[in-house]
Amino acid sequence: MLSIEFFCPLPNGLHARPAWALKEQCSAWRSDIRFINKRLNTHADGKSSLALISTGTLFNDSCVLEISGSDEEQARRALDQYLSSEFIDSDSIPSGDAPHVAHPLPRSLVRLNPQLQHGITLASGIGAGTLRGWQSDNLQRYRQRPASPEDITRLEHSLATLAEQLNHRLRGLDGESKTIISAHLSLIQDDEFGENIRRLIDEERLSLAEAIIRNMEQICNKLSLSASDYLRERVSDIRDISEQLLSITWPELQPTSAFTLDTPTVLVAEDLTPSQFLSLDTRHLKGMVLEKTGRTSHTLILARAASIPVLSGLKVASLEPYAGKKVILDGVCSVLVTEPDEAVNHYYSVAQRLADKRHQQQIKDAGLPALTRDNVPVDIAANIGSALEAPGAFASGAQGVGLFRTEMLYMDRDTAPDEQEQFEAYQQVLLSAEGKPVIFRTMDIGGDKQIPYLNIPQEENPFLGYRAVRIYPEFAHLFRTQLRAILRAGASGNALLMIPMVHSLDQILWVKQELQKVREALTSQGLRHTPHLPLGIMVEVPSVCFIIDHFCDEVDFFSIGSNDMTQYLYAVDRNNPRVSPLYNPITPSFLRMVRQIVDAAHRHGKWVGICGELGGERRYLPLLLGLGIDEFSMSGPRIPAVKAQLRQLESDACRTLAEQACECRSAEEIETLLADFTPEEPPRPLLALETIVFNEPLTSKEQVLQFLCGNLAIQGRTENPLELEEDVWQREEIVTTAVGFGVAIPHTKSQWIRHSSISIARLEKPIDWESEMGEVELVIMLTLGAQEGNNHVKVFSQLARKLVNKAFREALFAADSPQGLLDLLNAEISF
Ligand code: PEP
Ligand code: MG
Repeated sequence: MLSIEFFCPLPNGLHARPAWALKEQCSAWRSDIRFINKRLNTHADGKSSLALISTGTLFNDSCVLEISGSDEEQARRALDQYLSSEFIDSDSIPSGDAPHVAHPLPRSLVRLNPQLQHGITLASGIGAGTLRGWQSDNLQRYRQRPASPEDITRLEHSLATLAEQLNHRLRGLDGESKTIISAHLSLIQDDEFGENIRRLIDEERLSLAEAIIRNMEQICNKLSLSASDYLRERVSDIRDISEQLLSITWPELQPTSAFTLDTPTVLVAEDLTPSQFLSLDTRHLKGMVLEKTGRTSHTLILARAASIPVLSGLKVASLEPYAGKKVILDGVCSVLVTEPDEAVNHYYSVAQRLADKRHQQQIKDAGLPALTRDNVPVDIAANIGSALEAPGAFASGAQGVGLFRTEMLYMDRDTAPDEQEQFEAYQQVLLSAEGKPVIFRTMDIGGDKQIPYLNIPQEENPFLGYRAVRIYPEFAHLFRTQLRAILRAGASGNALLMIPMVHSLDQILWVKQELQKVREALTSQGLRHTPHLPLGIMVEVPSVCFIIDHFCDEVDFFSIGSNDMTQYLYAVDRNNPRVSPLYNPITPSFLRMVRQIVDAAHRHGKWVGICGELGGERRYLPLLLGLGIDEFSMSGPRIPAVKAQLRQLESDACRTLAEQACECRSAEEIETLLADFTPEEPPRPLLALETIVFNEPLTSKEQVLQFLCGNLAIQGRTENPLELEEDVWQREEIVTTAVGFGVAIPHTKSQWIRHSSISIARLEKPIDWESEMGEVELVIMLTLGAQEGNNHVKVFSQLARKLVNKAFREALFAADSPQGLLDLLNAEISF
């Protein structure tokens, strides 16, 4: 027998896709191939992807392939080659342009053996709550149906009707839908299904509704316990047909859309419409798993604004077994943690504490002016969807509102808001802006924002159809009402007006006429309104780019709607996950287009903003700044990080970068250019007050390393706390770094540290450091940059030598404040 030892290189662990790829490789050989995870001691047949997945293998787990058979030698060579070069590529996330970089799972979490479901992060953050499926609570009302002597007859009738309906649907279907409906049909035709309901009515004296629900629960419970993914996923099919059976029996009780949240909840759905999202109480919504949503869907935009983390890439059906149980949605590591135990909960309470501290630090910095390093001012504004979001956005450091999506006011209701209601909402935002500019985008209805009461017929291509400015002439009364409200509210602050989806000059000329009429009416009615309302258009239809000069004669400013612009420029649906790898605004064509817009507008003395999601992606800030964008508008929570990034940038360097990017031949070339673009920063001392932690409630080695690395991120010394932590653990797991006397000195030389640092944690109580040298009360962590040569070894040995000195040790433990410790170490050691 031959074997190959390796560490799992997959950042997302051995999930379905790499397991399938590995199985394909193993199946090419006659030999028996066993996969062994040494951390968990789990074994699997290398030729079964289901078995490989169920080994629970995570990033960096130590693994072995054992190969025995007639062609074992060739198999070993080929598999060795595969594992060391190609295996890692099988982990790539299908939507290649997902802006969230997948981090390795931190070992401080992995060592606790959490139960994880791997997804794709669409909105970052961490939230914990009970897992609930959208629509899963709509059966209660059936339970009130009393038992009746006709129950058995009604059951037969409903089963027959459902079978007939499914048969009918089958005729028009093919592919996956056909398979699912056939499976449903075979389930209800299964004798046991109907027999069990009959038995519950006859023997347990349940009403028909109770019996259908009980039968569903019994089957689902059994399936949920199965170790097979396939069987667990059948839960949703059973629910589905049971619900159909109930609604056929009592059509008058069709599910309503009422869905209330009253405890912390992580919601699972295939997708939610913006109005469904708006109907939820976000105080209790801690996270969402949306199987099929796009990166810039409006629901996602709303979720980001409300700081709600969102994952996709997980099947609703695969989560059914966890309904009603506690889960943690970790958008930082792109996982859903199911049934966390106490240690895992502790990990997340430390993670939450770090996130809160980071947020507080950012809020503190938010008030700082938005300037580049060479003091060029840039406008950083917020996107909001309701007046309620404005105060939070200003607290995050917004210098104005760059996009008020006023259409949100029209959604999730039966009639349009009247003038007074709108006036009050707009005035509220202007008052909380205290003189800062607020751009009111007039109602952008249509596309994925449908308003039922306008009775606009369904269209085949809503994004190319009757939406935004195109509907205004038909709904002129609604548009005028909105203009009246904005003009009146404008008297209380600094209001600007922006029109969505404009593509021809005629449209803006028509808007200006309407505006004039509305002004005259307000004047003649003696109603106070603003005499000054700068007018702008959203640049989100590509044809506009060629006539910016003409628009400059008619409007005061432009704002690039990169969400729509991306879909229209490349003809790629912004909400369709199947084409999401193509939905990437960072390409030479997009950047050249931005350059053209900005150059033309600037030649005519007009300014250009950007208010699509791209405007808040700090990674691309140097490019957009270099192209000359004047204003960046984004969801409020993104502002502090973007402002911090801005302070690192030199405007000249950004201009050069943007010019180079426009000359690149592919998106990949631009990404490489960006990866090499590192703004220079002033050096920081190795040891400082900000890296010394006193009396944090840290009770395990995992928590200490997690916290110290997280703290370096809060202090801006690393951008990659999780990768840094991984480097620290790699050293730690070779041999423990406890050096005796109650001290441990974990250390690493890492590419992930921006400013080499020494961190110190003085613990409240001694903790186990997995060493024979005893427990540890003081942790001194060295994280030095990759360029530091052997300095980490030098600092380490200097510290270790000092610790032998009793007087030094006593002074070290006697220091009762971060400042005391800092003074002592600075006096005793030359860093
Ligand atoms: C855009 O298209 O970029 C934009 C900001 O508008 P919305 O996302 O509301 O369509
Ligand atoms: Mg748009």
